[in-house]
Amino acid sequence: MTASSASSPLAASLAAVRSRLAEALNEAGRPASDARLLAVSKTKPAALVREAWHLGQREFGENYVQEALEKQAELADLDDIVWHFIGPLQSNKTRDVAEHFAWVHSVDRAKIARRLNDQRPEGMPPLEICLQVNISDEASKSGVSLAELPALAEAVLQLPRLRLRGLMAIPAPAEGMAAQRAPFARLREALEALRERFPEAPLDTLSMGMTGDLEAAVQEGATLVRVGTAIFGEREPPR
Ligand SMILES: *Cc1c(COP(=O)(O)O)cnc(C)c1O
Repeated sequence: MTASSASSPLAASLAAVRSRLAEALNEAGRPASDARLLAVSKTKPAALVREAWHLGQREFGENYVQEALEKQAELADLDDIVWHFIGPLQSNKTRDVAEHFAWVHSVDRAKIARRLNDQRPEGMPPLEICLQVNISDEASKSGVSLAELPALAEAVLQLPRLRLRGLMAIPAPAEGMAAQRAPFARLREALEALRERFPEAPLDTLSMGMTGDLEAAVQEGATLVRVGTAIFGEREPPR
């Protein structure tokens, strides 16, 4: 199968990212199974996603609903592929997301959560949810504030078609390990506080770390790192 030939550029970059993740976990004194790799395939063609699948990658992250639906249709034969929606989510797109994804990382308000809950089809398992937290307090970035996080978590926990798994953040870019770790530490502490407050909730996920800062995120307890550029190369502008 040429698509999975070990000499392809994708095979090399995926192997390099897997080593980075393994090395980071080792450095942090954490077991190798403690964090998974989410391959962020936005703007990349279905053929590359298929190639990554042949290389053993199963979880993929997409940001744009229409683009994702087209790719999912092309890849419908890959029945163990797991799709994560990680982009900003508008009310008019919640139905498509509720029907076509296993995970949503970008829930930052109760209205979106209620719509996802109401629109999740009966025959499917509950939708796995991460709440997106505005951890760097930038006015421009989406995400719930730390102050409003407990109330949002409580609201999501009332919704039977959603399963609250954890938190996601996209910190402002920063240089150096210490500066990168600080916001990830705040997210970890926020998750720890939620676990204490809601001990029955299945809160096991810290979705944090991307191409530029995955080592810092793993040091602070990331369980799911979302990597695009280092796997698939630089992106085209979104359609
Ligand atoms: C695009 C994107 C990523 C991947 O970023 P890279 O720097 O290319 O690894 C991760 N998370 C989210 C939410 C994204 O939108």
